[in-house]
Amino acid sequence: MDVAFTHVSLWTLVAFVVTWTVFYVTNRRTKEKKAAKLVDAAAEERKKGGADVIIVGAGVGGSALAYSLAKDGRRVHVIERDLREPERMMGEFMQPGGRLLLAKLGLEDCLEEIEAQKAVGLAVYKDGQEAVAPFPVEDNNNFPYEPSGRSFHNGRFVMRLRQKASSHPNVRMEEGTVKSLIEEKGVIKGVTYKDSAGEETTAFAPLTVVCDGCYSNLRRSLNDNNAEILSYQVGFMTKNCRLDEPEKLHLIMGKPSFIILYQIGDTDVRCVFELFPGNIPSIANGEMITFMKNTIAPQIPLKLCKIFLKGLDDGAHIKTMPTKSMAATLSEKEGVVVLGDAFNMRHPVIASGMMVLLSDILILRGLLKPLSNLGDANKISEVIKSFYAIRKPMSATVNTLGNAFSQVLIASTDEAKEAMRQGCYDYLSSGGFRTSSMMALLGGMNPRPISLIYHLCAMTLSSIGQLLFPFPSPIRIWHSLRLFGMAMEMLVPHLKAEGVNQMLSPTYAAAYRKTYMAATAF
Ligand SMILES: Cc1cc2nc3c(=O)[nH]c(=O)nc-3n(C[C@H](O)[C@H](O)[C@H](O)COP(=O)(O)OP(=O)(O)OC[C@H]3O[C@@H](n4cnc5c(N)ncnc54)[C@H](O)[C@@H]3O)c2cc1C
Repeated sequence: MDVAFTHVSLWTLVAFVVTWTVFYVTNRRTKEKKAAKLVDAAAEERKKGGADVIIVGAGVGGSALAYSLAKDGRRVHVIERDLREPERMMGEFMQPGGRLLLAKLGLEDCLEEIEAQKAVGLAVYKDGQEAVAPFPVEDNNNFPYEPSGRSFHNGRFVMRLRQKASSHPNVRMEEGTVKSLIEEKGVIKGVTYKDSAGEETTAFAPLTVVCDGCYSNLRRSLNDNNAEILSYQVGFMTKNCRLDEPEKLHLIMGKPSFIILYQIGDTDVRCVFELFPGNIPSIANGEMITFMKNTIAPQIPLKLCKIFLKGLDDGAHIKTMPTKSMAATLSEKEGVVVLGDAFNMRHPVIASGMMVLLSDILILRGLLKPLSNLGDANKISEVIKSFYAIRKPMSATVNTLGNAFSQVLIASTDEAKEAMRQGCYDYLSSGGFRTSSMMALLGGMNPRPISLIYHLCAMTLSSIGQLLFPFPSPIRIWHSLRLFGMAMEMLVPHLKAEGVNQMLSPTYAAAYRKTYMAATAF
């Protein structure tokens, strides 16, 4: 019995080993054949004069990058899921610093003929107080451009960028949905996508740029970076009206957080406010409208409130957008770079996502420019690593500012927290150096880490000063200490996530300036 059993076990083992070996060899051959096919297909595409770069997504980033690289002689294949005009409630304000970058990329005309509205600064409101914080005109930290922003319909701007890119002979812009990245031994070779006829097809290029926005599917195959949802922006557009002061963004420090109104077309006003997860009334059953009329509208100054209520009475379409934050992470795969919201996100209250993206494009373009061809994966990897380091001082400054500013704006019953919020209002509305240099920072006219740290410290100290005034009682001293702790809590995690060393490194700051200057020769 035992001998028979041993025989059976032995034969089973032999059968298993043989089957496994056959499976392994076949599987390996199939993989090798597939890899060889990929190499052949890529080589074939190169012979036919295929693209140097594939860009996934023709939003703000994909279109601007396509045009910039095409101007440098690269052949660019852009694949965009939907080439119709997007209708989105995001990316509607370009800071003065962003406009300068657009001009440096030769794209400033994309803000023309779209009814873009000039914005010269902020009007800030808090508990019946009102102040104006303009972008600095004089003493503007040597900002070499007209110091005003532009607000507009995002879709119109994106269409102008797409037109500009696709009119360049080196750009082929195609409608199609990218399904996956084609990878071979850790190197991205191209993409598989469904074209406009619904056919599964492939495209190959030495460099693939993933620029598929905040809902990116492709990012997940490149790194394990997860976006954190911070809050929701709820908004709508009031048509056929004009703000009394259309050249200002109207920021109301309300409850639970901020409310903003700004002119985005000759007769269109955007109204937006922030809510937090777990506290979002339903739009479908009408709770949201009631909430807006009863809770949000009463906080809005009368001259603006009529526009807010007009939109609701006209039955404006209410939208919600998640607000996400995500630190930038370098992908370990070669032959690919991720850009835009797929790469890095910050709270949108400072309206700077497009500015960071344009700065990234300028840096990347500058680093790629000296390469005669993009076929050397190692060189491309070096470029991407340099890009990641050089962008840090600027992007980390803006990201930290956005995330910290949004936290300060959240209303609270905590006395220390409220003192910080009041301190922020006082700081912005104080006039003189504090207002002008803070506005230069917010407007991307001087996005330097040192300026950020200076203002955040100064704002915290002046809030503490206000709290201790007129005399420092024990309870006031206690609140001051807590306020200081809160400020650190707001700042330190963001600085850590961004990488303090890289952010403050003089070497990277110098490299940023150098690349920026080299890439920005008009
Ligand atoms: C509520 C909110 C308000 C904001 N307001 C401002 C502001 O006022 N100013 C500012 O500077 N920034 C703002 N931002 C940030 C800014 O909008 C983004 O940083 C910017 O739009 C990112 O551009 P992008 O090119 O990365 O993505 P997008 O502009 O979103 O473009 C991504 C493109 O990829 C396409 N795509 C996606 N998946 C695929 C696929 N699989 N295949 C092919 N194509 C695909 C999409 O259709 C889209 O066209 C805001 C963000 C939010 C959330």
